Amino acid sequence: MIAEAQHATDDIAQIRASVRALCAKFPGEYWRGLDRERAYPKEFVAALTQAGFLAALIPEEYGGSGLTMAAAAAIMEEIHASGCNGAACHAQMYTMGTLLRHGSAAQKARWLPQIASGELRLQAFGVTEPTSGSDTLNLRTTAVREGDQYIVNGQKIWTSRAEHSDLLLLLARTTAREAAKKRTEGLSVFLVDMRLAQGAGISINPIRTMMNHATTELFFDDLRVPEENLIGMEGEGFRYILSGMNAERILIAAECIGDAKWFIAKASGYAKERQVFGRPIGQNQGVQFPIARAYTQMRAAELMVREAATRYQAGEDCGTEANIAKLLAADASWAAADMCVQTHGGFGFAEEFDIERKFRETRLYQTAPISTNLILSYLAEHVLGLPRSY
Ligand SMILES: Cc1cc2nc3c(=O)[nH]c(=O)nc-3n(C[C@H](O)[C@H](O)[C@H](O)COP(=O)(O)OP(=O)(O)OC[C@H]3O[C@@H](n4cnc5c(N)ncnc54)[C@H](O)[C@@H]3O)c2cc1C
Repeated sequence: MIAEAQHATDDIAQIRASVRALCAKFPGEYWRGLDRERAYPKEFVAALTQAGFLAALIPEEYGGSGLTMAAAAAIMEEIHASGCNGAACHAQMYTMGTLLRHGSAAQKARWLPQIASGELRLQAFGVTEPTSGSDTLNLRTTAVREGDQYIVNGQKIWTSRAEHSDLLLLLARTTAREAAKKRTEGLSVFLVDMRLAQGAGISINPIRTMMNHATTELFFDDLRVPEENLIGMEGEGFRYILSGMNAERILIAAECIGDAKWFIAKASGYAKERQVFGRPIGQNQGVQFPIARAYTQMRAAELMVREAATRYQAGEDCGTEANIAKLLAADASWAAADMCVQTHGGFGFAEEFDIERKFRETRLYQTAPISTNLILSYLAEHVLGLPRSY
């Protein structure tokens, strides 16, 4: 058992080193150039795909690497600790989980090997809508059955990477809300082939945001989706999507840990070098303490990410741990970002230091993929037994 655990630790150390080596080819100036143009990091995503990192969670029988959640989290963490941004492609790692867990044997055989090889990009995940927001069960996009097809009408917002994905995992309403037996029933998941859908029922409108994120809004106008693209049972989609969200939260929490490590390393390095009043600024406790505090926050959050990944891997219920990990890690990265700007004085605002870019990038995780308030409501209600607030 000890030997097995040691083996797993060595493997993860090796994966970390390989990811770091790959990321070293994509330095700050690469990301700065893209950020200015709001352009997609095609070369970076291609390199990660080619190295097999984005197929980490796909089982070997479908051509993936069949790694553990801890290994997948280490990949995302290292990307971010190296100053890169996994948001351009993290969904390729976990969105396929819904297909893997709930798809039919035929669907898995058809799609997963191509997703594992990178031939097909499953980067887009369409849940959020402009009118319902965090209230997913109120979504309005409909998929109405007509013969052997579903006709989709409605709108999604914040569907990231839709322009850089061949497939879209779509959550839509197949039973009217009033007709569904339970609030959580009546939604279904579809795998939409974007290559066929564009110009034939889907239009994509990019949204420019405070950071370079390739996010969009989607409009569905009588889009025809073949019935064989329905994942699992009709009406059960919300449950399927929820089961995938734990993986998403753990992996994004790992990205936040990576960001926090980057900010802490950057701030410590600068505080040792920058001389003001004839001594390094890091000699002042007023500068040291915020760095040390950010470090403690990061370490505590890191433990929770590990706990969530271990429970996920063991097939245990990890909703609480995944949510706590996401909340603590997002708070740790945001606190470290603020500390890093402050430590750098005016240079914290200069583009060429990359701090302001990473600061904007890590701010997202207070809001997406789930807003901090919604995590706190979940814990209050489901863990602490407080009255339901919404
Ligand atoms: C850059 C970006 C990329 C994204 N990518 C995707 C994607 O690929 N796919 C996808 O489906 N979605 C995506 N999202 C959407 C994201 O998941 C949502 O923005 C997020 O869940 C919050 O929903 P909302 O924006 O509708 O905010 P709202 O639900 O309108 O909430 C607004 C504010 O009110 C608070 N609030 C709302 N209700 C309550 C309540 N009951 N109690 C306490 N506070 C409450 C929220 O916490 C939030 O602070 C993305 C968002 C962004 C910004």
